Amino acid sequence: MSFRIGIGYDLHRLAANRRLVLGSVQIPHERGLSGHSDADVVLHALCDAMLGAAALGDIGELFPDTDPAFKDADSRQFVREAQRRLASTGLVVANVDLIIHAQEPRLGPWKAAIQQSLADLLDLPATSVGVKATTNEGLDAVGRADAIACWAAVLVTPQA
Ligand code: MG
Repeated sequence: MSFRIGIGYDLHRLAANRRLVLGSVQIPHERGLSGHSDADVVLHALCDAMLGAAALGDIGELFPDTDPAFKDADSRQFVREAQRRLASTGLVVANVDLIIHAQEPRLGPWKAAIQQSLADLLDLPATSVGVKATTNEGLDAVGRADAIACWAAVLVTPQA
């Protein structure tokens, strides 16, 4: 099997009394993302991109949000499981590129920390993890600061 690419997308609502965790980095903010797990929209998009690269289904099939086992779950476990499933098909992640869409909070100061966190999680050099952030210019649910969304692209290659 040669190079394969995958894409992932996710969106979660911003809500009171929730932690804001993006790429496994806890970001101080008056609201956080709501969801069954820790609602880490970055790791969810990444997980789907990894699974998609090898046509292994999606995060909702693997980790149903109706399963009490995943209540408030640390989403790193989803990425690690996607990594295991890729490895079982002889594939490893070569590089990742992300766009996080957030009107609030401004993520510029957090991009480097998210990049390093993802590099650590995936056992990649930071130079193989692109993290970009953008607002939605005040438009739509993200632009009204009602939600944060993330797109992820992943290239996977055969294990050496
Ligand atoms: Mg999600």
